[in-house]
Amino acid sequence: MTDRPPVADERPPKPRPAPAPDADSAPYWTAAHEGRLVIQHCTSCGNRQLYPRDRCLVCRGPVEWVEASGRGTVYSFTVIRQNYSRPFRDWIPYVVALVDLEEGPRVMTNIVGCEPDLVRIGMAVRARFEAVSDEAGIALFSPEG
Ligand SMILES: [Zn+2]
Repeated sequence: MTDRPPVADERPPKPRPAPAPDADSAPYWTAAHEGRLVIQHCTSCGNRQLYPRDRCLVCRGPVEWVEASGRGTVYSFTVIRQNYSRPFRDWIPYVVALVDLEEGPRVMTNIVGCEPDLVRIGMAVRARFEAVSDEAGIALFSPEG
């Protein structure tokens, strides 16, 4: 059940939007470009968080970057079957999901590498990475194994 746009688009494929790294987020994008998933760890209370912030969300203490395992489980998801904006229209149907990382943070991502209708809540997934610019990458997730 794919709802394609009514008019064929002859333009070349448009790349995935790239982030604009800032002082707080640059370490995340750089690590993803290198094929690593990193999260923030509070050196005061031990909280782990992602998305990047300049301080701990719980105690406002200082944070440091630590490497995550890249393993997680699907908390929730939806299958996008209509999106006429480029480049997303070229991907439909695709999965937008919330994934609980093994270390705790919950991240919004795409599930790739399997048919959208096979994605399930609780499914074990693992990070994979895609470069979106010369200095930034993003983490996507695929079924484990
Ligand atoms: Zn803290």
